[in-house]
Amino acid sequence: MLPLNHFDHLIVGQGLAGTALGWTLQQHGYHTLIIDRGEEITSSKIAAGLITPITGLRLVVSWRLEEFLPYAVRFYREIESLTGSRFLELNPMLRLFASEQEQEQYQQRSQTHFPELVSIPEPLANESEFDVSQGGFEMQSGGKLDVPTYLEASREWFQKQNCFLKADIDPQQDLAWKADQVQINRLGVSANKIIFCQGIQARHNPWFEKVPFEGVKGEILTLKIPGLTERRVVNRGVWLAHWQDDLYRAGSTYDREHLDCEPTVAGREEIMQRLTEFLKVPFEVVEQRAAVRPVIRGRLPVLGLHPENPCVGFFNGFASKGSLQTPWMAAHFADVLEDKATPEKQLDLSRKLKPKS
Ligand SMILES: Cc1cc2nc3c(=O)[nH]c(=O)nc-3n(C[C@H](O)[C@H](O)[C@H](O)COP(=O)(O)OP(=O)(O)OC[C@H]3O[C@@H](n4cnc5c(N)ncnc54)[C@H](O)[C@@H]3O)c2cc1C
Repeated sequence: MLPLNHFDHLIVGQGLAGTALGWTLQQHGYHTLIIDRGEEITSSKIAAGLITPITGLRLVVSWRLEEFLPYAVRFYREIESLTGSRFLELNPMLRLFASEQEQEQYQQRSQTHFPELVSIPEPLANESEFDVSQGGFEMQSGGKLDVPTYLEASREWFQKQNCFLKADIDPQQDLAWKADQVQINRLGVSANKIIFCQGIQARHNPWFEKVPFEGVKGEILTLKIPGLTERRVVNRGVWLAHWQDDLYRAGSTYDREHLDCEPTVAGREEIMQRLTEFLKVPFEVVEQRAAVRPVIRGRLPVLGLHPENPCVGFFNGFASKGSLQTPWMAAHFADVLEDKATPEKQLDLSRKLKPKS
């Protein structure tokens, strides 16, 4: 038998999670192989990649925004310059109110909770394009990651370094253990650790069957809107984001029951209905896609090494915040792998593996 090609780490999955971890471990000087099976539809590949500073009906500032956002911007800019591609756009975002309650919420919270993040431009938007009658505000520090371009540029880079392999890993059949190492004989590789970054697919991984995955299916439409001039992301119940030329993306839905990647008529109608409540110009739906967000009970990311086998790692649970959170979390996980830190308590895998009492 030929000797196995040895790595420090194998990363299974090259979505937002595996990609950020792959870059981070490479930056720390490790020899890491990233393995992905190349599915056409995944959560990351269909994600809008929005980084929205203030979210929800209650207008809540995104968790640890002031810490994660500057980290993420530096991270993506560095990769842009290494790979010679462009995928992060920073732009204000427009939030339009849908009710008097939302206006009141804004009055109550804007000066106390996020004065530096918001302003009210005059006019808010082009009134022939949008219904702005209920008012709204503009958020600074908004961002949009072109996720497919980021993933592709990263994969090409990893491939050039001989650090990427297209393969489907069966965690039950493929892994062999020898002297604190993991081996995948079929692929001719071994490593000190294998780190699973499989998104919602980790529900089927026997190592993580106790992790309380919830999963939330989301649908997104691609729209053709000739002549629309707005380039900011506009949000009122659903968001509308410019993509390229006269194409826009709009979404998304939240379905906790049907955890599949099938686009539905109900999903399409829900987005269109909400959109027509504030978009005044006609549009044509040119594509519809669906995928499942990897949500874990508690709605925070989860990371760490398996308490029964420290060769096995887990990096997952990025819900709707993969673009914002994966760079910082990858750095935190790298510190854990180097024994410089223990996982923050609320993110720790071992807590999620214990049955809830
Ligand atoms: C409709 C929708 C809208 C979203 N909008 C946003 C948004 O605006 N902003 C934002 O930040 N996030 C958004 N997200 C969510 C965000 O993108 C997720 O947090 C992120 O995609 C999770 O990335 P991941 O790498 O954990 O999982 P995934 O993207 O699922 O990646 C996992 C990868 O692992 C591979 N894989 C799995 N099992 C195996 C195996 N056994 N062998 C080999 N490869 C394997 C898969 O093929 C895949 O490539 C959205 C998601 C959806 C569905």
